Amino acid sequence: MSNTTFTMLKPDTIRNQNTGAILDMIIKSGFKIKAMKFTKMSIDQASIFYSIHKERPFFNDLINYMTSGPIVAAILEKDNAVDDFRKLIGSTNPEEAAEGTIRRLFAKSISENAVHGSDSDENAKIECDFHFSDQEIF
Ligand code: UDP
Ligand code: MG
Repeated sequence: MSNTTFTMLKPDTIRNQNTGAILDMIIKSGFKIKAMKFTKMSIDQASIFYSIHKERPFFNDLINYMTSGPIVAAILEKDNAVDDFRKLIGSTNPEEAAEGTIRRLFAKSISENAVHGSDSDENAKIECDFHFSDQEIF
């Protein structure tokens, strides 16, 4: 899976009608869409997806935010996908994100920060498997 990463366009992206603009940036940056769905995570699903953060002070707010509305989940393919996608989205805090990155352009705060991107090949595989079955990947 070293050429694969996983993303979610988070609920603020859908609410603010930035879905199309962000997908366009992703595609124009050379990522191929291998799978995609418009869905909404339950509290249980979001708690499992973000279980690595369960001891963090922001965990409850994160789960409430990520279940506050629909998301777009997608599997993306490109050489060096994980690192290149993290570069395209920018730092977690949009105030620290580089000019031209998705979070710099579209995120409102460190919590409501527009997009998710996997942080390693290992987590990309776990996250792709969490959201998609084999029949949904092309
Ligand atoms: N988050 C937050 N406050 C923080 C750090 C993170 O609300 O101080 C949220 C934010 O939505 C972030 C998510 O928790 O995207 C996961 O945090 P992580 O450190 O993994 O950041 P990411 O990998 O998304 O850049
Ligand atoms: Mg992370």
